[in-house]
Amino acid sequence: MMKKKLRNPTPKFPIVWKKKDFSIKIFCSIPNIATGILLTAGENHFVIDPGDGILRDLSKELGVESLKNICNIFVTHGHHDHLGGVWSLLTYLRVMNKTSPLKIYYPSGCIEIESIYHAFTKVYSHNLPYKIELKKISEGKKITIKNVKVKPFAVIHKEYLSNTKEKRAVPALGFHFKYNGKTICYGGDTGYCDSLVKAAKGADLAILEAGHEDAASDDMHMTMEEAQSIGKSAKEFVLVHIPE
Ligand SMILES: [Zn+2]
Repeated sequence: MMKKKLRNPTPKFPIVWKKKDFSIKIFCSIPNIATGILLTAGENHFVIDPGDGILRDLSKELGVESLKNICNIFVTHGHHDHLGGVWSLLTYLRVMNKTSPLKIYYPSGCIEIESIYHAFTKVYSHNLPYKIELKKISEGKKITIKNVKVKPFAVIHKEYLSNTKEKRAVPALGFHFKYNGKTICYGGDTGYCDSLVKAAKGADLAILEAGHEDAASDDMHMTMEEAQSIGKSAKEFVLVHIPE
């Protein structure tokens, strides 16, 4: 948990980046509140980090039919500000009678998404018109979906235990997306790490968190300077997840 402190200006959301038919829209990325990202490649939409408010934002952006056609969701890690909107999204798709399968890609060991899935499929076991497939992924396991090449990479992200002194590592991934020769790197929540440095280098767009409040480096979030130094190795970058 972070203390509230005034610092660098928060980016204005939504943040939109587009190169021909490959685009990304960051509806929101505020630490401890919510993240929500839509990636579009040609006619296909992919949801990344469905935090609170994602149903509202997707509904406004896409309308019912396109929303029902979404078949792929990517989750970087299990913190509530990255998947707090999953339940309402799954429920909406049920009510709207989605029939195509929905795949949720998530880091191995992320019990939050598995728990939501088990609870949801239990509650609606007799009344679920579409199939949900959990797809556990780990670093380096490349996947291609609808001509989008996705390369997950491990990042460093920790959380405090309830005694607020000790930390534990959270299963966390960043994603490198490639479509039609253009690349987008999204690090999710991460401290400064080599895998992110490598993934962001030369990317057409790097989406980098700058969630750490202090100037000194740590293993939960990046400082503004760290995020910028990585961002400069990409063709373009945006900083997100900045404390308000
Ligand atoms: Zn986090």
